[in-house]
Amino acid sequence: MKKYFDNLFYDSKEALCKIIAKKVKENQKMFIITANAETFINATKDKELEKILLNKNNYITADGISIIKGAKILNCPKPYKITGVELMSDMLSIANKQKSKIYLFGSGKKVLNALNEKISNKYPNVKIVGLHEGYNYKENDIFNEIKKLKPDMIFVALGIPKQEKFIEKCSLNLNKGIFIGVGGSFDVLSGYKKRAPKFFRKFNLEWLYRIIKEPKRLKRFYQNNIKFFWQIKK
Ligand code: UDP
Repeated sequence: MKKYFDNLFYDSKEALCKIIAKKVKENQKMFIITANAETFINATKDKELEKILLNKNNYITADGISIIKGAKILNCPKPYKITGVELMSDMLSIANKQKSKIYLFGSGKKVLNALNEKISNKYPNVKIVGLHEGYNYKENDIFNEIKKLKPDMIFVALGIPKQEKFIEKCSLNLNKGIFIGVGGSFDVLSGYKKRAPKFFRKFNLEWLYRIIKEPKRLKRFYQNNIKFFWQIKK
């Protein structure tokens, strides 16, 4: 698994945001993956996802304590924790400053509509040029819409690895756009789900908070994290 760590982004969130702001200004393309133990475990079994994680052009951030602990075990530098929710908020601030066009894809209709409203109120200069829910869609229609609308930032919330695979295919035929897979961030930023309170964040226990709130996550979390630390040196 060391090869995935070799392609991690080891700099801070502020440094990443500077790169994003510059790429938006210059109409460049970028693909950001916010990775946790589940992402890396999935990649060991999924060649398509593995290829995405090993692509040197992609930016992979450590979204969770497991990746930070994993880096320590492998004697890699300590990565900064850059979560999907925080990065999406910062990207919206950049978009607000640069009057950028954004596209939102994923989550259910209610969440998406609430998110649309929240963004419009909090970031009045952001132009939401398109949005589509993530349960009932034709992939080609979304590809074509993004191609036509030419958004500066495309936020995709379909969960791992669906969102990464969608972005890989969609960005292939485009030459601009900052693409990011944001997992459950639409749920949080729309106000539908609460983010872990400060205490949990301070002690790197967001994962525990999510399990308390949604116990069905326990099996998935347990399996992925046990496998992750078991396989890490392979
Ligand atoms: N989602 C979706 N379509 C799907 C599966 C999931 O739009 O077919 C959305 C779901 O509503 C949620 C987001 O993808 O808003 C991420 O889901 P999850 O919380 O499982 O992701 P995680 O943060 O755990 O990666």
